[in-house]
Amino acid sequence: MIWDKIIIGAGLYGLYAAKTCGDRGERVLVLEWEESPFQRATYINQARVHMGYHYPRSYATAIKSAHYFNRFVKDYDFCIHQEFDQIYATSDSFSWTNREQFTKFCKAADIPCEELVPEKYFNKGLCDGAYRTREYTYDAGILGHYFVDELKRKINVEMKYGVRIQAIEKQGKHFAVILENGETFETGFLLNATYGSTNQILDLAGIEPFKIKYELCEIILCKPQQQLLDVGITVMDGPFFSVMPFGKTGYHSLTAVAFTPHMSSFDSLPQFKCQEKSEGYCSPRQLGNCNDCQVRPQSAWPYMSTMAEKYLKADYSFSYAGSLFSMKPILKASEVDDSRPTVVRKASENPTFVSVLSGKINTVYDLDEVLKND
Ligand SMILES: Cc1cc2nc3c(=O)[nH]c(=O)nc-3n(C[C@H](O)[C@H](O)[C@H](O)COP(=O)(O)OP(=O)(O)OC[C@H]3O[C@@H](n4cnc5c(N)ncnc54)[C@H](O)[C@@H]3O)c2cc1C
Repeated sequence: MIWDKIIIGAGLYGLYAAKTCGDRGERVLVLEWEESPFQRATYINQARVHMGYHYPRSYATAIKSAHYFNRFVKDYDFCIHQEFDQIYATSDSFSWTNREQFTKFCKAADIPCEELVPEKYFNKGLCDGAYRTREYTYDAGILGHYFVDELKRKINVEMKYGVRIQAIEKQGKHFAVILENGETFETGFLLNATYGSTNQILDLAGIEPFKIKYELCEIILCKPQQQLLDVGITVMDGPFFSVMPFGKTGYHSLTAVAFTPHMSSFDSLPQFKCQEKSEGYCSPRQLGNCNDCQVRPQSAWPYMSTMAEKYLKADYSFSYAGSLFSMKPILKASEVDDSRPTVVRKASENPTFVSVLSGKINTVYDLDEVLKND
């Protein structure tokens, strides 16, 4: 049988594509390396539904985020946590953006912010501006269940977990995806939605890779004390930190620009020293899941928490609950302005090969155009 679409990767981008095409009655096959969906970046990230505040050096990204914010919050309201104050602040020193610039930026990007006295949350002299903003977080666990339930109901959509792709071959007007166990699946439309593994899939298909840098990132989960429970805090645009609700889990995520990335790789296929010790579990040809790896990194909690404690008033404290790791591919071209665009790239047509390298969760709608059957 020839599938209308084969989608590699069961993160948000892959499952959104599967649902969109499945709703139209197309025969869709999703191939996922893990034993269940949403095990990588879609789950292991800050969970911020971006409104644009995070990108004061890229108006284009800020405006696009704001545009998609309302749509995402409306479509997936059941997994959105909005019952907290999301506070952004500009650091008094070492920041790329000061109070005046941030105020001007929000006005120009037309995103709402209410200025507050920094001393409400921060120790004296550390922040020159503080703002209550309109930004939420999403709960990946709830969102994942929604997609699984929706897709289960469709007889025209099949999910295959635990797959090991060995080769991708172009055969006339089709691509053949060949698994290590010999199973082969054919399609005229292949979507590569593997994020951290995008170049690994492109390599299998003999297609030019993205120019990316890889960062192995740690998201710390912590238990907020009472005062912090309904507050999220981001000290921004420089070597600072964020602590905010991790969806509806009751935990807060803690990240810090200087300490969240543990290791980087500038190679086309991700190469890390720890892979040698993983006994074949993880390699430049296939990234394992750091959370299940015997050589997963030590937590940077001592450094991240020290930084947050330096800024935050003692009332806004929290304690360590655990760590999650995920790989972040960053387009080298977006390093300068921190813009994190979502790139949807078509490498061939008839048969069609599309890769998506996303910058954010709520830009998932960027897939709509390429999924159309014109
Ligand atoms: C540390 C960090 C913080 C972030 N913070 C935010 C934030 O606050 N807000 C925001 O909007 N965005 C954030 N992002 C970006 C966001 O997480 C991603 O843009 C988004 O989750 C990517 O979704 P995806 O479906 O493309 O990838 P993923 O969710 O990673 O899914 C890719 C899937 O492909 C599978 N796969 C990989 N290789 C293969 C293979 N060979 N065969 C089959 N399957 C394979 C993986 O197992 C995985 O299930 C963050 C990212 C990181 C890493």
